Amino acid sequence: MKDLALAKLQANVLNSTLAHAWIFTGSNLEQQQQLAQVFSNWLLCGNKNSSVACGSCKNCQLFNAHTHPDVCNITLQAEAAAIHVDAIRALNDFVYSRPQLAPYKIAIIYPADRMNLQAANALLKTLEEPAPNTIILLLAKHELMLLATIRSRCCILRISNTNEIFDVSLMQKLAGDLEKLLLYKQTNLIQVAANWSKLDPDLVLASFELLLADLLVLLYTRDPRFAKFAAMYQAQNSLLTVIKPNNLWLMLQTLQQARYCLASGNNPNLQLVIENILTFAEP
Ligand SMILES: [Zn+2]
Repeated sequence: MKDLALAKLQANVLNSTLAHAWIFTGSNLEQQQQLAQVFSNWLLCGNKNSSVACGSCKNCQLFNAHTHPDVCNITLQAEAAAIHVDAIRALNDFVYSRPQLAPYKIAIIYPADRMNLQAANALLKTLEEPAPNTIILLLAKHELMLLATIRSRCCILRISNTNEIFDVSLMQKLAGDLEKLLLYKQTNLIQVAANWSKLDPDLVLASFELLLADLLVLLYTRDPRFAKFAAMYQAQNSLLTVIKPNNLWLMLQTLQQARYCLASGNNPNLQLVIENILTFAEP
């Protein structure tokens, strides 16, 4: 969901771990645009709290009037079928200039999957040499329409209509930690739970749930075509060699209860919740 995605981006800024380039993807481009706008406004605001822009400082006023000098929107020109290289060259000039008012500069490209090849290649150079305090947001319905070389240089945030956000890099991290815990014995349950509990609770539980759901699908089909995240097939397969089928169900059940608890406004101790879930994972 948009709000969850926003919270994730904000948490990254507050922890100083925000990646310099993002792909927002999902079937609803309007939803992605809203997210890009709300996040950019918040990022530029000189008087924000942890989740909301003030709406009245100079940065907010200029942003809301669409005249903020530290924002660059690249989109299709009227009637044009593609975003051309000229637009990306202009973006490059913007990216490598100094911010004028705000601590950050933001470039938003949409629909990014309509860049032609020349434009995409020009953008690639910018992504390879990130400019300080500059965030590039690519909004695209179909991430696979973007060059693989672009995708690999961006964090991907999937926003789906089912109010669920997918964070594949987080799922990969969770799967990797589980492998370290269950297969290689390089860590222990308490440590993993402590690390995960530092992440955004909604996001970590949603991603963990998707990972478990995929494990169940693979358990019963043994066919990566049915898994949502087939790219993680290898890690998932090795996890299935140690987690017992019944225990997978128990993990999923416990996790869903925790998500329900969180959604109904209760504030469970995330570390304990994760420890409870992981208890079932160990053989
Ligand atoms: Zn403000």
